[in-house]
Amino acid sequence: MQTQRIERIGERFWYQTPVSETDRPILGMVVGGKKTLMIDAGNSEAHTRYFLKELADRQVQKPGLLALTHWHWDHIFGLSALDGVVSFAYHETKEAMEKLIPLSWSNEALDERVQAGTEIEFCATAIKKEFPEERNITIALPTVTFEGRMEMDLGGLTCVLQHVGGDHASDSVVIYIKEEKILFLGDCIYADIFSPKTNYTIEKTRELLNQLDTFDAETYILSHSGAISREEYQQEVTLLRMMASLTEEFQGDSVKIKQAYEEQLGRELNEDELETMQYFVNGW
Ligand SMILES: [Zn+2]
Repeated sequence: MQTQRIERIGERFWYQTPVSETDRPILGMVVGGKKTLMIDAGNSEAHTRYFLKELADRQVQKPGLLALTHWHWDHIFGLSALDGVVSFAYHETKEAMEKLIPLSWSNEALDERVQAGTEIEFCATAIKKEFPEERNITIALPTVTFEGRMEMDLGGLTCVLQHVGGDHASDSVVIYIKEEKILFLGDCIYADIFSPKTNYTIEKTRELLNQLDTFDAETYILSHSGAISREEYQQEVTLLRMMASLTEEFQGDSVKIKQAYEEQLGRELNEDELETMQYFVNGW
């Protein structure tokens, strides 16, 4: 099991590193002069409590506010541990969470949903690992919902919550910590993993990247990968934009896309690039 570390960027942003095995995403804490905002609620009450304890050990005050990036289980199951915290979510996020309330999370129920195609193996496996014994899952709903965009003044520190959507989840919201120039991307830049074939679509990718371009950030947080610099982010964006263009130009023909991109780069595509290409071909 990976150890989770607490990292700090600048004076006012803390985060806990992710765990791939149990699909624990990064949790963030934005500490303003007056208010503290937590970003995402974690994949279990244990996850949330561990994060809060680690921050309490570092004299970081408890959060009064919380923002959800999207409805996926690993970002919301911990919300029930945050009594008294005012949580904010895009309206579609809350609607998707409401649909989870009647579900059972037993092994049998998870397996059945995987069979029926309404749950994916990857999530079912991670849920079983995160909750090896007692599966005490209570879906708590966000307190406040918004549409489009909202701004929070934490006391000398501004956070913008903006709905951006994308292939991974249509309700995806990013959180921009303005004065610190940090853009918390959540999972928005990842592919759609819930369709039979993991995919990116040209249109949604472009729409998403155009929206993300409007933020002036130095650091980007990807919930299951880590914090990356502006340069690293730009490389990722270039790859996505190039693959979108080539997929369009060659009508999803992977042989031609690969050949054209390798000619441009003057080298063979690496594993990461090949995977991204395959996702675009799947989405064509
Ligand atoms: Zn997700």
